[in-house]
Amino acid sequence: MDVFSSPAYDDHEQVVFFSDRRSGLKAIVALHDVMPGAAIGGCRMWPYPSTSEALTDVLRLAKGMTYKAAMARLPFGGGKTVIIGDPRTGKSEALFRALGRAIDSLGGRYYTGEDVGTSPADMDWAGAETPYVLGRTTGSSGDPSPVTARGVWLGIRAAVRHRLEREDVAGIHVAVQGLGHVGYHVARLLAQDGARLSVADLDPARAERAAEEFGARVVGCEEILGVDAEVLAPCALGGVINDHSLPRLSCAIVAGAANNQLLEDRHGAALHARGILYAPDYVINAGGLINIAEELGPRGYERGRALAKVEIIAQTLTEVFERAAGEGAPTSVLADRIAQERIRSGRQAAGQRAPQPARVLAG
Ligand code: NAD
Repeated sequence: MDVFSSPAYDDHEQVVFFSDRRSGLKAIVALHDVMPGAAIGGCRMWPYPSTSEALTDVLRLAKGMTYKAAMARLPFGGGKTVIIGDPRTGKSEALFRALGRAIDSLGGRYYTGEDVGTSPADMDWAGAETPYVLGRTTGSSGDPSPVTARGVWLGIRAAVRHRLEREDVAGIHVAVQGLGHVGYHVARLLAQDGARLSVADLDPARAERAAEEFGARVVGCEEILGVDAEVLAPCALGGVINDHSLPRLSCAIVAGAANNQLLEDRHGAALHARGILYAPDYVINAGGLINIAEELGPRGYERGRALAKVEIIAQTLTEVFERAAGEGAPTSVLADRIAQERIRSGRQAAGQRAPQPARVLAG
């Protein structure tokens, strides 16, 4: 395992391995980019089979956060934490307090928060040791999912405007895969607008609820990706756009909340070749990050302000769509390029300023 020659290494500024003998904590923190302010990114807990798999994941996730922040025009860089452990059996107050001390030792270069396998209550424990924790149970930004969903809904509308030249989604058929924290709210917002919905979830009760509340048609999890609809909204897991699913897609637009929707970069080009407009995931699903970053704003957190800031997602997506169309290039390639341009100019601007001390929140 070699960090610098790992394919996932992308000039990350700092990668730190933490272990705490007493609580059993084994964690890796990767800071991809700290330049604009501090880095922000959640803490994932997962039973990684090996340290090198945990390292690959944290490097990729941290880089993704830098791109997400750049595209949302947030004055933050990207970082991420992974804890190697089983979230069902391995959690304790001692473990998260040890994590809090580890985060604190970075001196405000990085703020963490909840992610897959961790919760706001876990962040309360970590936050007992450091101010550099966001998204606690009280006095913080709360569940980001409705804000993420609003960004996805705005993004779907922007995609429909660009691809179908329609100002609203009334009568537009949207296939929603996954009706969890985000997908449920995406379906609700689309139904309010008069969209026609087909939905699927591994949990039949979630799909039935959408049928009852939104008049959605329930289809099987195997079928949802192939539904003949204008929009496919992946709101479950990553990797859904792959060699197996691509020939089955029967949509004009792919726009949803899931992270890492393209199994590999080349699948963005494959969507383009099939004439399907792709809303790059780290642009359309940035609402959660926008929401949590609002905690660090000069006026503190206020949900109304976070919801208003999410409007930027539609503007950014429209820029990506228009530039991609102008160049005849895949939207995934254009989004990467715009993010890289913004990161570069942010680094240049920050390099010309004196370093700022990190802002410490009241514990
Ligand atoms: P969640 O776990 O609450 O919901 C996921 C839902 O998808 C569950 O109901 C699950 O049963 C269902 N599902 C899983 N596999 C499925 C399949 N093959 N077919 C149909 N349904 C399936 O998660 P969430 O918080 O709603 O997040 C959804 C996605 O959005 C994830 O990829 C997440 O990383 C991403 N995301 C979430 C946020 C947020 O604010 N929660 C922010 C950014 C990105």
